[in-house]
Amino acid sequence: MDGRDLSCGAVAGTTVAKNPIKAARRVMTDTPHVLLAGRGADAFVESIGAELATSDYYWTPVERARWQQFRARSEAADRSEPDDDHHGTVGCAALDRHGNLAAGTSTGGLEGKRPGRVGDSPIIGAGTYADNATCAVSCTGVGEEFIRRAIAYDVAARMRYGGATVDEAVAAQFEDRLQQPGTGGLIAIDRRGRIVVQFNTRAMARGLADSSGRVEAALGP
Ligand code: ASP
Repeated sequence: MDGRDLSCGAVAGTTVAKNPIKAARRVMTDTPHVLLAGRGADAFVESIGAELATSDYYWTPVERARWQQFRARSEAADRSEPDDDHHGTVGCAALDRHGNLAAGTSTGGLEGKRPGRVGDSPIIGAGTYADNATCAVSCTGVGEEFIRRAIAYDVAARMRYGGATVDEAVAAQFEDRLQQPGTGGLIAIDRRGRIVVQFNTRAMARGLADSSGRVEAALGP
């Protein structure tokens, strides 16, 4: 999503795109639509000559091992170790030197989801939002909770309508709206370059960088 003019694009349920964010960008720039899903999204990805990948491309030994663990736990109906790390999602929120904000989020979705299920990542206002007037936001976690509460938009709305700072707007999500531990996390940046990261999972891998030379990476709290 481009915070300059609220233009945005998304794909969901695509099985062929190697780089879903690039495909989402083409939805934004080449169509009058915001979100393409399923077979239509695949046909669009193929029609624009985007790089394609089969599911084998994503089927790494680490992912295979995770999937096998997930299957074993599900079959044993073992809820003792809920996996709240949501490791499949990559999101970014950025501010350029002209004051333009942008956000993007890409995910394989929650482990064990039903075919056809769409999470929050491609839903503008739920998992992704950017508006030059306020902030850019990218979320990760249990998508249903982020969709229900329009979390990414709510961060921006608290700033726009309530005069909250980005820190206050993000903190409010976890105090009032995503209280259940393990729900997820988000990154946000405001138009002055203030970056906020918050999550209620055990960890959230993240990296922060700015033009002052700040470069940070972290996993845990
Ligand atoms: N938010 C993503 C979804 O619900 C999953 C994730 O962040 O891991 O599909």
